Amino acid sequence: MARADHGPLYSGGMAGYHMPPDDFRRYGHEMVDWIADYLERVEELPVQSAVQPGDVRAGLPEHPPERPEPFDQIMKDVDEIILPGVTHWQSPNWFAYFPANSSEPSILGELLSAGLGVQGMLWSTSPAATELETHVLDWLVELLGLPDRFKSDGGGGVIQDSASSATLCALLAARERAASDDAELTVYTSTQAHSSVEKAVRIAGLGGAAPRLVPVDEQHAMRMDDLAALVESDVADGRLPILTVATVGSTSSAAVDPVREIGELCRKYGMWLHVDAAMAGTAALLPEHRNLHDGVELADSYCTNPHKWMFTNFDCDAFYVADRRPLIAALSVLPEYLRNEASESGAVIDYRDWQVPLGRRFRALKLWFVIRHYGAEGLRHHVGEHIALARELAGWVADDDRFELVNGYSDLNLVCLRHRDGDDPTRRVLDAVNATGRAYLTHTKLDDRLVIRVSVGQTRTERRHVEALWEELQKAASSNVDNDLG
Ligand code: PLP
Repeated sequence: MARADHGPLYSGGMAGYHMPPDDFRRYGHEMVDWIADYLERVEELPVQSAVQPGDVRAGLPEHPPERPEPFDQIMKDVDEIILPGVTHWQSPNWFAYFPANSSEPSILGELLSAGLGVQGMLWSTSPAATELETHVLDWLVELLGLPDRFKSDGGGGVIQDSASSATLCALLAARERAASDDAELTVYTSTQAHSSVEKAVRIAGLGGAAPRLVPVDEQHAMRMDDLAALVESDVADGRLPILTVATVGSTSSAAVDPVREIGELCRKYGMWLHVDAAMAGTAALLPEHRNLHDGVELADSYCTNPHKWMFTNFDCDAFYVADRRPLIAALSVLPEYLRNEASESGAVIDYRDWQVPLGRRFRALKLWFVIRHYGAEGLRHHVGEHIALARELAGWVADDDRFELVNGYSDLNLVCLRHRDGDDPTRRVLDAVNATGRAYLTHTKLDDRLVIRVSVGQTRTERRHVEALWEELQKAASSNVDNDLG
């Protein structure tokens, strides 16, 4: 497109500098084509970006443009400057961290959300944004076999940006319910819990700035006897236990805490139980994995992330409370300018009171699109496939003398392995596989030893990708031996 010397870039009846509808249509179609092409070819790209710190910024002009720029030029820079600096989370060769997978219906839901541009802080600022969210989260209760008490007649679900925010909200609600002005408050979670628990405790400003970290057993699950002893001794010392966070599917090894027993202890002490199933909750779509939610009916709150494994773009964490009142009491502040008849009628949900920020996007659209596009059977099919692939890989690892399967207790989609000869060879295998660009893996430490995590959950990961990864792992283990001999 030719660039005008003066005045607006786009002409054709549209006042000012705005993009005219016809140009938006054209570029919008081109953008969807660009994304479709990207998703088709992403598996051929090196998974991890190879740029060095500062490379991306070095390609950008130092100052913002004074004159409007053509959209084609912007997209050219996307290809030339941005894409090399992108690590391809949507590659089927993605096995790092946990996935942040997506899907075409979800992307379209995000586009529609951007197009509507709704800010759904109150029911009255866009009733559909609130009601769709409430409704779709009720659907998810059914899909995941969660207890009915998390449904919207009394309790209810809300989309948070992340599991970290869900944990923080659970903590704030727990503190509200405990209603103590003077006691020293304590929070419990296992040594394997996600770091977001510690962060929530810090943000909430609880004294000590750290949760009590309960030791784990050989399956990396919270030890009940240790939890009970810690709580008992805190109570004896005059402290007030307010919250335990149980993990269903830990980040390092997919370990599952004994939720039922923890729940019973929480009831005994009047403590809030929050269950963090950020990744693993999705597996409960499958009836054979519903046992993951055993005891969740004793929880006061629960979260899982459709933005990890349920084909829904980041950000989408589904957070549930069994009783919404303490959450709202903790987070509701009502200035005059937000007052409205619907809120005052008590007949509506205002999700601003269920989260830390005021404003919120229309995120339910993408989850709704995903659930409707795949149907329960489609979701079960793909999630079941990921688990089957991970189990197959775990079998190959267990049968190979060079490797050790570290989380043999798990029947989910995370495979943890290490080289039998120790941390150095394990590190070399990890680095060698990542250096190929044909897969991306990350590590953790379990029992003080280095572990490679293989997380199978990218939308387009098929058997051939897992087979190729296994080949790379074996090749790297062989060259390790060569290195050692050399
Ligand atoms: N909880 C668990 C068990 C996780 O594995 C993670 C991230 O991997 C989180 C919480 C944090 O997730 P988010 O990025 O949604 O805050």
